[in-house]
Amino acid sequence: MIRINKSAEPPSVLKDNCSEWTKNLDDAVNKYGSYSKIPKAEKENLLKYYRLKDIQDELAKASCRKCAFCECIPSEGGNLEVEHFAPKSLYHKLTFEWNNLLPICRKCNDSKSNHDTIKEPILNPSIDDTEKYIDFSLINMVAKQETEYYEKALLTIDVCSLNGTRLLKARADLLVRLSEYQQKLSQCLKEIEQASTDRIKSNKIRKLKESIETIEELGDKSEKYSLFSKRFLEKSQEYLEAKKILNNINND
Ligand SMILES: [Zn+2]
Repeated sequence: MIRINKSAEPPSVLKDNCSEWTKNLDDAVNKYGSYSKIPKAEKENLLKYYRLKDIQDELAKASCRKCAFCECIPSEGGNLEVEHFAPKSLYHKLTFEWNNLLPICRKCNDSKSNHDTIKEPILNPSIDDTEKYIDFSLINMVAKQETEYYEKALLTIDVCSLNGTRLLKARADLLVRLSEYQQKLSQCLKEIEQASTDRIKSNKIRKLKESIETIEELGDKSEKYSLFSKRFLEKSQEYLEAKKILNNINND
């Protein structure tokens, strides 16, 4: 879970029609007495606009096509859906509010369901600096201790089921890759230490640099589960040592 960069302005189709769509939905709520009582077909007709392609595309762009909560790339297991941070079934007037829309995968959407984020707030990936509050213990996502949003982070993990089996498996696979890359770094460090000539040493340093770039790519915000990789690197002695060597060389 990382912060996503939504544009401040809504896509023009939303900006131009938000008031009218909201009014039509609100009229139907008043006519039938509640949101849940609007007949299915009529409700679908009133709601369909929030899924317009322009809106979906803008949200997908903001999150590098990843789910804003679990950081999976939904194209691998379904489409990226448009999620209402405050559920539309409870807050129908926020159905077409740009600030209330997030890109989400089907699994997280199902888990989050109608959780009332106004009464029981969870982290909002388009507002909160989520990275500050999330850590990992092995492959489990945990709330960082002693932060202002500790409780919020705990609730987010629970509500969105961010330690579900599919995510544990994905993180375990990623851990294997990261560990393999880490071994390569370790090997490079050894070879640099043992290099008998300057030429060999500079070759080994070039190899080290390439290995660092490869491992750092996994923590790039466009990569799936990037926060897990980022946290791994922050704690990797081999990676930190390799960075130190490169920095020293660059400063020489
Ligand atoms: Zn998800």
